[in-house]
Amino acid sequence: MIVCKFGGTSVGDAESIARTATIIASRRDRQPVVVVSALGGTTNQLLQVAEQSAKGQLIGALRAVEGLRDRHLTQARLLLDPAEADEVSAELSAMFDELAALAEALKTLGDLTPRSLDTIAALGEQLSSVLVVAAFRKLGLPAEHVDAREVMITDGNFTRAEPQAEAIAEAAQRVVMPLIRAGRIPVMGGFFGAAQGTGITTTLGRGGSDYSASLVGAALQADAIEIWTDVDGMLTADPRVVEGARLIERIGFEEASELASFGAKVLHPNTIAPAVMRGIPVWVLNSRKPDGTGTLITFDAPRRSVTAIAGKSGVTLVKVRSPRMLLTEGFMRMLFDVFGRHHTSVDVVATSEVSVSVTIDDVASLEALVVDLRDLGDVTIERNRGIVSVVGSGLSDGGSAMARALGAIGDIRVHMLSLSASGINLTIVVDGEQVSPAMRRLHDEFFTSATAA
Ligand code: ASP
Ligand code: MG
Repeated sequence: MIVCKFGGTSVGDAESIARTATIIASRRDRQPVVVVSALGGTTNQLLQVAEQSAKGQLIGALRAVEGLRDRHLTQARLLLDPAEADEVSAELSAMFDELAALAEALKTLGDLTPRSLDTIAALGEQLSSVLVVAAFRKLGLPAEHVDAREVMITDGNFTRAEPQAEAIAEAAQRVVMPLIRAGRIPVMGGFFGAAQGTGITTTLGRGGSDYSASLVGAALQADAIEIWTDVDGMLTADPRVVEGARLIERIGFEEASELASFGAKVLHPNTIAPAVMRGIPVWVLNSRKPDGTGTLITFDAPRRSVTAIAGKSGVTLVKVRSPRMLLTEGFMRMLFDVFGRHHTSVDVVATSEVSVSVTIDDVASLEALVVDLRDLGDVTIERNRGIVSVVGSGLSDGGSAMARALGAIGDIRVHMLSLSASGINLTIVVDGEQVSPAMRRLHDEFFTSATAA
């Protein structure tokens, strides 16, 4: 049994949905369970409808509702015979009527609670899952709709609900398993679920469909999880920056996590943790090129000195120098307390005996932060910096990777250096405009030059 998850671009229109059906048809003997996102862009529009309505802009909100209705019904007509299209359109339309009624209620209330936001956001996946089931059946697949609220049981923390693994395992065995055994293909919406006890609709947070797929896969002890998207998989670098970036065929979970937090945006590894931790292999595949090898993410992948290069600009470097740090216990605690109080998360840290340097992405509270940091020492702020990361599970196993990385950086000015405790991420802080050249030099050193690893 496998779980196949299709993202918004893989179910974005009739043509993509038909391609999705072909992919599932080719995997029938593996007993697929299908998890779908909303049609690409729908969730953003739904959230806008909710916000506009609560602000009193009902006409704009209702216009957006009709735009979404039109889009969904058009795809239904393209995919189905007229009689089937009418039936499915009626079902979809009822959901849009409900959305319009919710918009009016929000306008009257003038207040948007996390609970109403979830009820509205979840409609995207409810719509797409109904449409996909009808399309699959039309194309000869024995699809069966599963309401995610019967399986994806969460706590009541709206907009970021916490899945309840035991309840999900029980529900998946009870609701989904019999369908698989009967030779059916269960199809459910990702991203949303229901609060334990009350049954009120919740969501897992943006991009949550990968998380749903991983949770369902873990609950059913799937043999594999396939995350179908619109890129070939994870690459050795961002191809928009580095010409000749290559597909990574297999990557370790920790390496994938490092890459995600330092630039690569294919998927957030936290969302696949429930599956990977149980030893279930997760594939990232391109639904436009279903024959591609994709990237396999596993708990332990082959050790390599360098797996990929990542980079991001727009980083701010904060340096605190304090002679008091010398011999003072608790300095670090006080320093990080300040960042905590200002809700500013720190990415990279380097310290010496009398100074600490950290990088931050979010400068919303920078001024207030600096005022408080001045109590601890001299503060300097360097804006427009960037981070380049060299990621590899065997990076610090010895060998020459570290020396080669610094050699490749050459005369590009380095402001800060840090090797993660796990030893798999060498992070180099450079000027913002040097991020791309540094990435190219590093990629060239490890992946394209004659001596490439
Ligand atoms: N549709 C949801 C979102 O856009 C969930 C997902 O696609 O993973 O955030
Ligand atoms: Mg997504």
